[in-house]
Amino acid sequence: MSFQQIHEKYNWDEISESIRLKTSHDVKRALATSNPDLEDFKALVSPAAEPFLEQMAQKSLQLTQTRFGKTVQMYIPLYLSNECANGCIYCGFNCKNQIDRCTLSREQVMEEVKVIKSLGFEHILLVTGEHPKRCGVDYIEEVVKMIKPYFANISIEIAPLDREDYTRLKQHGLNTVYVYQETYHKENYGNYHPRGRKADFNYRLDTPDRIGLAGIHRIGLGCLLGLEDWRADSFFTALHIHYLEQKYWRTKFSISFPRLRPHAGSFQPQYPINDRQLVQLMCAYRIFNQELEISLSTRENHIFRDNMIGIGVTSMSAGSKTEPGGYSNPDKELKQFEVSDDRTADEISQAIQNKGYEPVWKDWDHCLVEC
Ligand code: SF4
Repeated sequence: MSFQQIHEKYNWDEISESIRLKTSHDVKRALATSNPDLEDFKALVSPAAEPFLEQMAQKSLQLTQTRFGKTVQMYIPLYLSNECANGCIYCGFNCKNQIDRCTLSREQVMEEVKVIKSLGFEHILLVTGEHPKRCGVDYIEEVVKMIKPYFANISIEIAPLDREDYTRLKQHGLNTVYVYQETYHKENYGNYHPRGRKADFNYRLDTPDRIGLAGIHRIGLGCLLGLEDWRADSFFTALHIHYLEQKYWRTKFSISFPRLRPHAGSFQPQYPINDRQLVQLMCAYRIFNQELEISLSTRENHIFRDNMIGIGVTSMSAGSKTEPGGYSNPDKELKQFEVSDDRTADEISQAIQNKGYEPVWKDWDHCLVEC
C-alpha cells in the first residue's frame, strides 16, 4: 500500500480530536512502555502531556545519549538560489515577492565553499527555491560534482525530483535529501501552495518514496509548524516516517522542526507553537523513535538551541546565511528568513562543548559506507 493510500484512510479532524482527548493515563502509559506506538505518540503530543514535560525531557535525554552518545553533528546550509516559480504564501522566496533574485554561478559557488571550508565544515546542505530552469537537477548535479572533493557529506533541500534524478545525484555522492510536506492537511494544502509544481499535494507526498527507491542514505522529513494544527501534522509526519522505515529499512531518517519566521511577505501563522510545546514535540519524537536523527536549525534562538542540546537534538546548523552568496558577500539582502541564532560556527561549537557534548564536524567517510 502506498503512503497516499494510507494517508487517505485517515480523517484530519478525527485525528486532531483523538489527540485532544488523550488523558494523563495515556501519557503515563506512553512514558512507561519500551515500545511506543502511534497512539502513544498521540498521547505525548497531546495537551494532556504538557504537565509531564520534565519527565519527557529526562526520558528523551537518556534515550538520546544511549543511541547517539554525547555528540552533536554540525552542518551548514549553502543557499544556491532564491529563484522560485512557486507561490507559497508564507515564504520570502514566493515568486510574487519583489526581491532581488539570483542563482550562484560556478565561480560564486566556489567562493562560498572557500569561506565555508575555512569555518571547518564537512557537512553541507545545498538549498534552492523551486525553479526547474534556473536551479533544476542539471544545475544541482553540476554543483554536487564540483563540491564533492571538499565535503564528507552533501545534503539537498530543493524541489522534489523524479526517482531517476535522485539516482543520478546519488551517483555523484549525494547523501541526504530533505523534503518537507509543509502540511498533511490535504484540503487546506492548496491554500498555502496556490501555484507551481508544489501545488501538487500527492507528488510531494510521494517524494520520500522516490528518494527511498533511489537508495539515498538518509531522508529528512518535517512539516512547517504554524500552518495547521501542529499536533495533527506531527502525527501524520510520524505516521509517514513509520511507513518509510518499514519499507526502506536500510535508509536513515531525520526530522526537522521549521517554525515560521518573519520574512519579506506578510504571512502570520494561525497555529503558532510555543517554546514549551516545541520541546514537548521534540521529546515525543525521541521517545517514539530512538533511531530518528533530530535536527534543529538557526531559525531558533541561541537560548532555545543551547537548552535542547542533549535533550533530543543530534544535529545543528551553525553560522548560517539564508541568502545566496551570503558567506562571501554578507551584505546581500536576499534572505529566505531571518536566522535567530546568529552566533558564529566557533561560538556554537563552544556552546556545545560547554554543555559537555562533542561537536562532530565529520561522522564517517563515504567509502566506509560504500565498501
Ligand atoms: S517554500 Fe520553497 S517552493 Fe515555496 S516559495 Fe519558498 S522557496 Fe519556493
